[in-house]
Amino acid sequence: MSRERHRLRDLPSIDRLLGDARVVPLLNQHPRPVVLRALRAAVSSARQRLSAQKSDETDASRLTASIVAEATRSLAHAPLHRMRHVINATGVVLHTNLGRSLLCSDAIEAIKRVAGAYTNLEFDLESGARGQRGSAALPPLAQLSGAESACIVNNNAAAVLLILDTFARGREVVVARSELIEIGGSFRLPEVLEKSGATLREVGATNRVYPNDFERSITDRTALLLKSHPSNYRIVGFTREVSGKELVAIGRSRGVPTVMDLGSGLLVDLQKWGLPEEPTVPACIRDGFDLVCFSADKLLGGPQAGIIAGRRDAVARCAANPLARALRCGKLDLAALEATLAVYLDPARIPLDIPVLRMLTRSSADLEDHARRLASRLEAVLDGHASVTANPGTSTAGGGSFPCLELASWQVNIAPRRDSPSHWADRLRGGRQPVVVRTVDEHLALDVRTLQDDDTENLIAAFANLAKESSR
Ligand SMILES: *Cc1c(COP(=O)(O)O)cnc(C)c1O
Repeated sequence: MSRERHRLRDLPSIDRLLGDARVVPLLNQHPRPVVLRALRAAVSSARQRLSAQKSDETDASRLTASIVAEATRSLAHAPLHRMRHVINATGVVLHTNLGRSLLCSDAIEAIKRVAGAYTNLEFDLESGARGQRGSAALPPLAQLSGAESACIVNNNAAAVLLILDTFARGREVVVARSELIEIGGSFRLPEVLEKSGATLREVGATNRVYPNDFERSITDRTALLLKSHPSNYRIVGFTREVSGKELVAIGRSRGVPTVMDLGSGLLVDLQKWGLPEEPTVPACIRDGFDLVCFSADKLLGGPQAGIIAGRRDAVARCAANPLARALRCGKLDLAALEATLAVYLDPARIPLDIPVLRMLTRSSADLEDHARRLASRLEAVLDGHASVTANPGTSTAGGGSFPCLELASWQVNIAPRRDSPSHWADRLRGGRQPVVVRTVDEHLALDVRTLQDDDTENLIAAFANLAKESSR
């Protein structure tokens, strides 16, 4: 028997390790099964080292010490929670991969109020009878959108599916070829249509479609005329689209319901805050669509939800579809939605208190000031390891809103002296406080538009760490 194989007997048992004075504090900090897993992994890697004769732990107590040290290290790196707070330095306000909209503080309070408590979610406190889920958010939705009625589901993909399943199963839906959208993350209108059991009837050419194309396509198999907002692309040049008003007029004259998949869920016109024109929910309702559906976590700035607003009878048919039960919205999201909508009822609060709109409407003076202050602090902590400058740049609204819009912004450019920018970006993502940042040419570009006030100190600390590593 080789010396190393003989030494396998020196490996401590898990029971012995659990009694080790260095392990006891770990048990106070982490759940016992997590500590056990870390100890077992450390023992197993020590066993491999011994078997491979790569161990330099010369006696049993050193072996134990190195096992405890390894378990301690791995526990220190194991985040307590896998879904983490991430600093978004990309400037993309509605970043679907980073969780889309940030909730306003009223919505966060509302979630706190109901999360650990019984609620009247589906209970009518007046009559003591069963109530309608989500009913608290419906009056403000009606008021803000101008619609007669609304119903709330899990997200806008669910809203589209529910509408199609309710009205068009086994029949035809007419859509302009230029509006057969795909939204990131596998929402493709033609495929959702197919799933709902409806048949797609594409009309027009890619760049041009006329009212007459819709007129000619209508048969007794036609269930709906559907318009969708190309929320992540534009068709420019020699183009012609059928407006909402035109489509509604055709639908009315032929007795076919019309639906608008708006996506973004913008409730107020942002032009007075300097943003370009983007269709709003109230405008689509005014155009006369029977139903308009949209996300609550895009430009509305609320929780993940899908809203179907429109004519009372059409909404009621959707709500009565058994599929609605499978697509329903959770109580935390409903609480957050109700609170978010309440902010909109006071227009002066909208650009201040809805984080998504606050970020989109930040003034260039504010962005510049932020970038300059951040640059000088980063320059201090980076201490010669990188060149740091504040520069004008552009951000995007992101996730299904304001397609192709480049918003003038300010950014802090950081060019590491020795490492590659992509190495720094990797380190920032993998750090204790993950930071997501773009790399452009030879530098990191931190767009300040999406940095939150309470991100600053953590961001500075993350760069201070990089500087420390970079000098080793
Ligand atoms: C975003 C979007 C969807 C999908 O909405 P989710 O809330 O992500 O499910 C559908 N249609 C349009 C036009 C969109 O912009």
